[in-house]
Amino acid sequence: MTTDATTKPTTRDECPHMAKLKLDVACVPCQTERYQQAKQHYAKLKTKYGLNDEHTLTAAFEFDYHLITTYRLTECDELLTEIYNACKSMYDDATASASHEPCTNAKTADQILINHMLKQALQRRQRFYTQVLQSFAFLRFKQARFEESNEYFERMQKLVGDHERLLENMGHTYTSIGQVDKAKDCFQRALKVIDAKVAVAADKKANEEEFHIGGILLGLGMCERSLGKNKEALATLEKSYDWYKSKHQNGDNSILAKVGGHLADTLMDVGRLDEAEKHYREAVRIFTATCGEVNPLTSHAIRQLGRFLIHTNCRDEAKKMLLDELERFVKVDAQSLRMRPVIESLHFLVEEYKQSREQKKRQTKSLKQFLNRLLHCCKIAKESFTKVGLCYPIAQLGKMLDDRSISDEKRRQLLLSLEFESIVHFFETCQT
Ligand SMILES: [Zn+2]
Repeated sequence: MTTDATTKPTTRDECPHMAKLKLDVACVPCQTERYQQAKQHYAKLKTKYGLNDEHTLTAAFEFDYHLITTYRLTECDELLTEIYNACKSMYDDATASASHEPCTNAKTADQILINHMLKQALQRRQRFYTQVLQSFAFLRFKQARFEESNEYFERMQKLVGDHERLLENMGHTYTSIGQVDKAKDCFQRALKVIDAKVAVAADKKANEEEFHIGGILLGLGMCERSLGKNKEALATLEKSYDWYKSKHQNGDNSILAKVGGHLADTLMDVGRLDEAEKHYREAVRIFTATCGEVNPLTSHAIRQLGRFLIHTNCRDEAKKMLLDELERFVKVDAQSLRMRPVIESLHFLVEEYKQSREQKKRQTKSLKQFLNRLLHCCKIAKESFTKVGLCYPIAQLGKMLDDRSISDEKRRQLLLSLEFESIVHFFETCQT
């Protein structure tokens, strides 16, 4: 039997247009189609079997995969909240049955086989709980709720122990909350776990290929950079980049853009600006091709390039790029929208607006247009921030900031909200 490109079944990361578009993942329209199919499939099984069912939960996690990879975080949060109890009770039931095995004195081959199958069925049912903890950890990470993300990973670790992928993920959450030493420790432990596994494997070369070294090196490089060790960071990040490059030779994959972005940041720090610019532009190109234009990752890459252009005094290009980007960014899922990057872009644009007004001495048509676009972005962003509970009316903000019992984290968030409100106020008063 032969298989060619047209009969080959596609997996969830493939689509028929990959070769033509030089992609190493499904194209954006196909990603949307897979998301819709997974959504319908899950809804169908939920109606047919209910939530406490292996088929339904398997479909739920397939759906979860498409939600998280396409940054549909609000929908993802709803799904995981819906299935959490079913996963937990399936785990509890399976664990209770596992404690009293049905046939402990199995002697015949048939009895042993039945025991083996029962054990497998139990493990399968237990796994949903580990899976839901992991999915929540990923979701909270993408929602920038890093401390909660870490709690889920720690609960998972109690169930599965030191696993290199888990340690890698925990490392990334520690990095995000500024606990660099803990993060570094996780990445180094992950490398040790891999070394130990490779050492016992018969075919060392083949075995090493299966481990996700690139992600661990990326994490380690980011830690080194935070600790001010740019030279080490550069070497580690280059290794990570080469590792991913060798894994994705068929076409573009967003992971290369991600590593490239961190590499560019480090290159910029050490003054190798031409190389940095190349990586920043390449990251924007890859994210746009693999994740689409309205996507938090694409937005982040454009902002990084914009920041670079401001640094190198290409303000006109930065201005156009950051305003276009802001208009797209405010359209992402409310839970993916970040206040800090919105404010950073706005600060730059306020400055640009003031300068142009100064030069032209009065409101020209193009300046009015510029202002209206900014006001429109602010309006949409404000709606999203209000929806997820990040925005408050000024009067209320003042009272909340006076409250001494609120946490530092909350205080930082309130100050950001205050900053955002004052920028909006600035634009609103410009127009009159
Ligand atoms: Zn496609």
